[in-house]
Amino acid sequence: MREYCGIFGLYSKKREPGPVIRTGLFHLQHRGQESAGIAVFNGKNFKVLKDFGLVLEALPYEKVKTLKGFVGIGHTRYSTAGDKDKFNNIQPIQIFAHQRYIALAHNGNLTNANTLRRALLEEGRVFHSTSDSEVILHLYTKYMNLPATERFKLISNMVEGAYSILILENDALFAFRDKHGTRPLMMANENGEVAFSSEEGALRATGFKNIEEIKAGELVIVNQRGISRHIIDTSDKKNQCVFELIYFARPDGTVFGKPVYAFRRESGKILAKKERFNIDIVVPVPDSGIMAALGYSEESKIPLEFGFIRNHYVGRSFIAPSQRGEKVRMKLIPIRNVVQGKSIALVDDSIVRGTTSRQIIRLLRENGAKEVHMRIASPPVRFPCYFGIDIPTREELIAHGRDIEGIKEAIEADSLIYLDIEDLYKLLSPQEAQFCYSCFIGNHIYKPR
Ligand code: SF4
Repeated sequence: MREYCGIFGLYSKKREPGPVIRTGLFHLQHRGQESAGIAVFNGKNFKVLKDFGLVLEALPYEKVKTLKGFVGIGHTRYSTAGDKDKFNNIQPIQIFAHQRYIALAHNGNLTNANTLRRALLEEGRVFHSTSDSEVILHLYTKYMNLPATERFKLISNMVEGAYSILILENDALFAFRDKHGTRPLMMANENGEVAFSSEEGALRATGFKNIEEIKAGELVIVNQRGISRHIIDTSDKKNQCVFELIYFARPDGTVFGKPVYAFRRESGKILAKKERFNIDIVVPVPDSGIMAALGYSEESKIPLEFGFIRNHYVGRSFIAPSQRGEKVRMKLIPIRNVVQGKSIALVDDSIVRGTTSRQIIRLLRENGAKEVHMRIASPPVRFPCYFGIDIPTREELIAHGRDIEGIKEAIEADSLIYLDIEDLYKLLSPQEAQFCYSCFIGNHIYKPR
């Protein structure tokens, strides 16, 4: 499982937006590492900088400094739709229409993009990318003659799937979150500046303190006249991605009103209550299992030990796909003195394909671990995600067609315990009905069409 996208926007008469957006994107780097881009408007002109690579490589400071203006948006990408190697797919995607510059940054995934795209092509519209996000841009320009609230209402009616978006139209900045609220979108409005970000951490890192979540179905408009907020659309069915809490979001923030760190720690406590083996030490898979392992250790009073150190010098670029099996060994270095002769509770957030878990368990055994008991702080992932997270086809998921015993055998663990779906509901109570659990139970609100 890999990450998807992060978006950041700023309207400010006090700071140049380029460098601030670059810093914000850097703090969203965990959400996408394929490419990054920034679009800025200065009152007359639009400037766009984008490239493949990590934020600091794709957006060199010397070039970002030249993006003069007072409003801008940025994007860091992991492609879940569209060709990842196509330059035109790098966001923000921009267009010049109705004598106005328009740029879009999108986090999420549309499930009816193909249907909408076909209809737009039949109308004679020309697409420059293969990204599903361009569909939104075309719908936006198609309804440019309408007031913004009506335009977004139409988009909300037509587009299915997950989308938190930022649109820059000359000097106006629009932030919109879909009516199901699948992806988070945060906002800060203080000291004459308004900023938006996929996550709270990026706003804090750029100097903001009073941070709130944009509501599902809410449109925020920022322009020379100030800021206005409008509930454009509502739905009884909220679909907030529970995987944001389990894995994706940075643990220093709050997502969907839940503090991420505390959520993961609590999930570890529940795992500890299910323990039925004699465990000597609790070892987290770095970094994804650390907070759950802490909770497990607190609850069980079994010592938490760092059985691995991470090699922080492993870049993504030099690991060829053929070396994927080697990736774990390049990244994780076992501490033999810690794990030797021990019965270990190995804690991680989730298992998707199972290859990484198997490699880690083998590493522990090679370094003398007596027993390795895998403990997973979420239920088995049995279904793909259609809403912007790269959870592969059912066949590629290790939990597909296997019961817990079968998964345990496949990853070569001595035992395997997952969080139950009911545990997850309890953790999120009383808001549990507002979350998406489709990759665990397969009840997707939309399917691709
Ligand atoms: S299917 Fe899973 S990963 Fe996708 S949005 Fe729902 S909870 Fe999140």
